[in-house]
Amino acid sequence: MDLLNAMNAPQKEAVMTTEGPLLILAGAGSGKTRVLTHRTAYLIQEKKVDPYHILAITFTNKAAGEMRERIDRLVGFGSEAIWVSTFHSMCVRILRRYIDRLGYDTNFTIYDTDDQKSLMKDICKRLEIDTKMMKEKMFLSVISSAKNEMIGPIEFANRAVGDFTKRKQAEVYAEYQRALKQNNALDFDDLLLLTVELFKLDKEVLTNYQERFRYIMVDEYQDTNTVQFELIRLLAMKYKNLCVVGDDDQSIYKFRGANIYNILNFEKQFEDAKVIKLEQNYRSTQNILDAANAVIQNNIGRKAKRLWTENGEGEKIQLEQLDNSYEEADYVVRDIDRKVRNHEYRYQDFAILYRTNAQSRLFEERFISKNIPYKIVGGVNFYARKEIKDVLAYLKTIGNGHDDLSVQRILNVPKRGIGATSIGKIMDFSIEHGCDFYEALCHADAVPKLGKAADKVRPFVNLIESMRVLSQNKDVVELIKAVLDQTGYVAELVAEGTDEAQARIENIDELISKAADYMQTAETPSLNDFLQEVALVADIDSLDEDTDYVVLMTLHSAKGLEFPNVYLTGMEDGLFPSYMSITSDEIDGNGANSEVEEERRLCYVGITRAKEHLTLTAAKSRMVRGETQWSKLSRFVKEIPDDLLKGSYSREREVPRFESPGFQNTPVRKYVSPSQQRQFESATTGAMNLNYGVGDRVSHMKFGEGTVTALVSGGRDYEVTVDFDTVGTKKMFATFAKLKKL
Ligand code: ATP
Ligand code: MG
Repeated sequence: MDLLNAMNAPQKEAVMTTEGPLLILAGAGSGKTRVLTHRTAYLIQEKKVDPYHILAITFTNKAAGEMRERIDRLVGFGSEAIWVSTFHSMCVRILRRYIDRLGYDTNFTIYDTDDQKSLMKDICKRLEIDTKMMKEKMFLSVISSAKNEMIGPIEFANRAVGDFTKRKQAEVYAEYQRALKQNNALDFDDLLLLTVELFKLDKEVLTNYQERFRYIMVDEYQDTNTVQFELIRLLAMKYKNLCVVGDDDQSIYKFRGANIYNILNFEKQFEDAKVIKLEQNYRSTQNILDAANAVIQNNIGRKAKRLWTENGEGEKIQLEQLDNSYEEADYVVRDIDRKVRNHEYRYQDFAILYRTNAQSRLFEERFISKNIPYKIVGGVNFYARKEIKDVLAYLKTIGNGHDDLSVQRILNVPKRGIGATSIGKIMDFSIEHGCDFYEALCHADAVPKLGKAADKVRPFVNLIESMRVLSQNKDVVELIKAVLDQTGYVAELVAEGTDEAQARIENIDELISKAADYMQTAETPSLNDFLQEVALVADIDSLDEDTDYVVLMTLHSAKGLEFPNVYLTGMEDGLFPSYMSITSDEIDGNGANSEVEEERRLCYVGITRAKEHLTLTAAKSRMVRGETQWSKLSRFVKEIPDDLLKGSYSREREVPRFESPGFQNTPVRKYVSPSQQRQFESATTGAMNLNYGVGDRVSHMKFGEGTVTALVSGGRDYEVTVDFDTVGTKKMFATFAKLKKL
């Protein structure tokens, strides 16, 4: 039949093994997801299984959407009765029907992160917890991990004896659950946990769903956590027709509680399980696969598997080591532009992948200036991110204060105890007097019935005024740092200590780097000029309406997807693998650094997204928090044999040494992530190749031609003074000035 025609032997076997537990353990691009969709069709068409009895679970909404489409296409009529769902949406459906059996009302509310935060705030207040010492977010994150491990408040409390912090957490956990229930609300983790509870408590409900879902399939099984495993185990217990597919080499969600043993121990957990391995890859060229294999084989204690393909060798992997991150972004964007102009590809055939969200900024700016449509998948455009908007709102308020929306945005950010009612009164006052909102703030004492709130407004006005004084010296970097410092904005994020807060800090650091770059290149730097420049690149209007666009995303979001052209960017030790992982002392049973191994799996995921062309890029220097940092080529890149690579890079001399006499070679510091930078002393040294010296004629992109009058080693970089023919003398950092010798 048609369904089996386009299948190799083990794929066919997997499709036709419809009864009993089945594990398909296979590398990337070997057709795992495809087997699931074809298996679904086979069950219906050949085995005459009622679509009603099939459940297919996957990880993200995007993946579920794609799977649904593929299945609809294969199955046609009747396919809507199949449940194709993420874990969460499946649980919502079940709980909406039966949660009353757990004492909740079936019209329960689902709390999102903001709801959770405000509930937690109330609880901390009620329990008189000093939230400076113990943050609300910390409690939420501890509770979430406990729920993923299926540890309820009582068990949590039993384990907490003796430890003060843990006891507090237990107290908060119990209170949090009580409050949720009282509000008839569930958080995301509850959706899974309560479904498991329901199944365990109520045999009738469990049997009902076991009867319904006689055939269960799970994609990306390597990333399931403990509660998800239990859910599947319970559902599959009766008919045991459970087919899971996954790749232990692609397990990348340990930080969210994913339990890699779910896949490694499948054969132990499900008796008589059949295991099928798929080794032929249909996605990538042999060179890309060889690179992926070369990298992943450095992980100790993995199940050995090797991928091969009939797709042919293909092109070598392009490796480009650029002088700095600006040139990296330039290189990638030009390359895409060229290939599209040559009619080789459309924009949608390209994906740019990176380790941290903050890296998107430089690419976005290049795309905007070149008018190339792009989209950030699973994330938000850099200048639309909350923390960036907040900081820019501060700068706008300092810059002029006429932008009422900006002032209102930050008046109570971070929290100053100025509520919506007070803001309303101030607004009324400003309307009545025909003045700006900020002016009204300056006259808070005159605002009727404002009362005590006026006392809270005054420090804000003082802060803005003092920042205005500071802004007169025109150093935007210094100004931003002062704002962050005085408002405690970053300190609050540091105290939160969550992954999300860390990403926000990295974004803010990236904005500081933007400002530093601006200071280097602007003719007459000023706050308002900076804001204008940002407004130009932050203009992201109608890009989304295009259907043909380049996608940008983190490596984590790229799981399961494929593209003809993939750029893996920021391939530098300290960025990828992250400094955090390199310095981690978490050692696994095999004596390996498990954090670096997780990063290596992420690298494997990234490489294997590429179908035809894979480009790896690295920058020798990168601005972090406005300061230049030097880094070596990623160890993952070095794990790829030379004969698979082409391009301009240097393995031995990762960091260029300054070659003129008189400058010593100095040891180069590892890349330090922005938050660590604050913890580690910042004695950095580096050197670079300058092909010009004092007295030479040089040209600058913006300022034109001039003569170098001084060259001073600034530790991380060289400070060059140039006497330009038209604009006069300017001092700048060599890395960013990009001077060309004439
Ligand atoms: P990942 O681990 O990245 O999720 P996967 O194992 O799920 O990968 P698929 O996405 O199912 O792999 O398949 C990869 C590509 O190979 C898809 O474009 C798919 O259509 C194609 N493919 C898989 N098997 C075959 C086959 N037998 N014949 C032709 N194309 C195939
Ligand atoms: Mg897949």
